[in-house]
Amino acid sequence: MSFLEYAPAPESTSILKLQKSYGLFINGEWVDGGDKSYTTISPSTEKPIAEIAHASAKDVDRAVSAARAAYDTVWSRMSGADRGKYLFRIARLIQERARELAVAETLDNGKPIRETRDVDIPLVAAWFFHYAGWADKLEWAGLGPNPKALGVAGQIIPWNFPLLMLAWKVAPALAAGNTVVLKPAETTPLTALLFADICQQAGLPDGVVNIIPGRGEVAGQALVEHPGVNKIAFTGSTAVGRSIARTIAGTEKKLTLELGGKGANIVFEDAAVDEAVEGIVRGIFFNQGHVCCAGSRLLVQENVHDEIVEKLTRRLGTLRLGDPLDKNTDIGAINSKEQLDRITALANTGESEGAERWTLDCEIPTNGFWFRPTVFTNVATSNTIAREEIFGPVLSVLTFRTAEEAITKANNTPYGLSAGIWTQNASRMLRVADELRAGVIWANTFNQFDPTSPFGGYKESGYGREGGRHGLTAYLSNGDAR
Ligand code: NAP
Ligand code: MG
Repeated sequence: MSFLEYAPAPESTSILKLQKSYGLFINGEWVDGGDKSYTTISPSTEKPIAEIAHASAKDVDRAVSAARAAYDTVWSRMSGADRGKYLFRIARLIQERARELAVAETLDNGKPIRETRDVDIPLVAAWFFHYAGWADKLEWAGLGPNPKALGVAGQIIPWNFPLLMLAWKVAPALAAGNTVVLKPAETTPLTALLFADICQQAGLPDGVVNIIPGRGEVAGQALVEHPGVNKIAFTGSTAVGRSIARTIAGTEKKLTLELGGKGANIVFEDAAVDEAVEGIVRGIFFNQGHVCCAGSRLLVQENVHDEIVEKLTRRLGTLRLGDPLDKNTDIGAINSKEQLDRITALANTGESEGAERWTLDCEIPTNGFWFRPTVFTNVATSNTIAREEIFGPVLSVLTFRTAEEAITKANNTPYGLSAGIWTQNASRMLRVADELRAGVIWANTFNQFDPTSPFGGYKESGYGREGGRHGLTAYLSNGDAR
């Protein structure tokens, strides 16, 4: 018998003190937006959460001017130790308001509360603590004004880890002495707006952080084109990343791009099977597979294929899909109708191209956007689902015989963001890792993040690194975080 039905009630949204509508956060104030406003909805219910102002190109200009003034008059003149104090204050406020932030993120994004509570928000705090510590450690930080910051950083983030992507970008930028104009994704502006409130609460000087929700083609594009912006940091699709690179080519702007992926999770015959199965689940079903570094291709050694697939589907049978605010939920909602349609179309292509489809047998709620965890076996390397990023809870299983074949197959993608290797043979682990063209390689684990580790891609997954010392260099004019 299961006692799950006696489990605590779903997390209540009553701890959220949300406004009916939100403006833009520019120069420390809430102001109206010039582009038409937009209702952010909860993807698990399709119910409206709040009305969000959208920034026009004029608003972007206002935000950049505010960031420039704050940079020139306050932030670039402040000592590293003082900047660090603000960052520590922000980190502590994130901890204090962690529960509220987790509920808001789950509501706006659709991901399970267990993830926002135990992964997203703790990592957000960890990122701010990490970079707060850097602010006064840079060699020249004790000298007073920061001679090496870039100036105004324009930051554009996606919807899959809304507040965490903000933290990855805002924390190092501020620690290095830059000011920020950040555009959150259209479908997930909520936690970025709560973050603006936290900046106010922390007494951050006006204009140091500006948050401007808006549409990619309007606010995002205007930010990228703005001559007053010294650096663009973008996380999102490869297509948009490419167009941003084209737009700023030949200007003085610095650019870092964190783009898509098609990560290989490689399981050798000697792997610890149960742990590998957990790692496969975490690799592709964490956050509904809305993870750029997801292990979306499982490469499994031929002689353990059947055993792994059998154990995997049995394990998937225990996953609970449903209300993301329920603490027992493993699989939440897909972030938008648009993304759901994309996933559905790609999965259908997998079937029509001849792969064998397994789908978790579970009910899905009537409202909202849902996709049942799906595993494709008998996938050929030429199949669309083996090549294109699906960005959803869909795993493609391929097989290999030798380590050489595994390496060739793993590298057979225009992407190069992540990979995982499962083996108990340490020399094989190191040799294979050496041959993989991926920015992050996990050894007997998957989807682990840490603010001290650099993260970023090879090939079409982008360039530049976020996290640790490497993440700081992306915000310094000499690229040298010493
Ligand atoms: P997206 O369409 O590229 O959007 C990302 C951000 O860029 C959003 O804020 C978007 O605004 C904005 N944007 C769209 N068009 C723009 C333009 N022309 N100029 C400037 N900004 C523009 O990507 P997505 O569909 O939201 O996110 C999924 C993709 O991001 C996946 O391919 C995934 O792999 C990738 N991703 C990569 C990483 C990484 O670290 N490498 C992390 C997360 C996601 P709107 O919201 O208005 O569209
Ligand atoms: Mg939303």
